[in-house]
Amino acid sequence: MECKICNSPTEIFLNSYIFEKSFLINYYKCTKCHFVQTQEPTWLDRAYSDAIAPLDIGLIGRNRFFSDLTERLLLTFFDDSKTFVDFGAGYGVFVRMMRDKGFDFKWHDAHCENMFAKHFEEHDLSKKHDVITAFEVLEHLPNPISQLAQLLENSKVFVFSTDISYRKQPNFNDWWYRAPHSGQHVSFYTAESLDFLAKKYNKYFYTNGSDFHFISSIKLDDALVKEFFFPKKRTLKDKIVGRLFGNNIESLRYKESLLAKDHAYLTSLLHNH
Ligand SMILES: [Zn+2]
Repeated sequence: MECKICNSPTEIFLNSYIFEKSFLINYYKCTKCHFVQTQEPTWLDRAYSDAIAPLDIGLIGRNRFFSDLTERLLLTFFDDSKTFVDFGAGYGVFVRMMRDKGFDFKWHDAHCENMFAKHFEEHDLSKKHDVITAFEVLEHLPNPISQLAQLLENSKVFVFSTDISYRKQPNFNDWWYRAPHSGQHVSFYTAESLDFLAKKYNKYFYTNGSDFHFISSIKLDDALVKEFFFPKKRTLKDKIVGRLFGNNIESLRYKESLLAKDHAYLTSLLHNH
């Protein structure tokens, strides 16, 4: 089996179960970029009989965390962005949260019902967008390159999460992110594999080293990105200087919420029916 990211040879990494302990599968590891993939997943119909796994109790906390971080990222480095799509948007919690923060996000998901962002959909991913996000999506993709090509080609910045810490785990088999009970996680990335992907599209890969990443068309200052991911504790003097010279987080100009506008828009839709 070839690596689905960089096409290098793979070797068998693990043979273990998914679902209940009855269903044994192989995991293959790339000898070059260390990307780990399952054998061809023929079990996905069963895995997605319920689109969001019942064990996923982290959904709300995760959306809060990613929406705050995404807001800060966009205000810090991509403040001129106008168009936003959340790919694999699920129930639409993230889209709603970002709209509340003033970003005109649209919902896209081929497998899940939009509950919280109805009437704010984007079905056409062949259009260019300034920002495309995809949280906890990449590990679900059985064919990452074909699915990510469009997202990378059509965005200036692609913001995403997937846990890349498997090489720090004592034991891949017991790592919670393998998520054997749902059978949905089939692709496990490393910084090398994501960097390879970015370079393939002439882009730049940035990561916090664990679960939050972005791939940008423009090269950013490494020190500023580091400061973004790992902000130093600020002294009072830093804060005052930062405020005076507009170079710290407190100086970010937050956006006006779209909540009131959205409410007026949805009300007008009702009246036109
Ligand atoms: Zn590889």
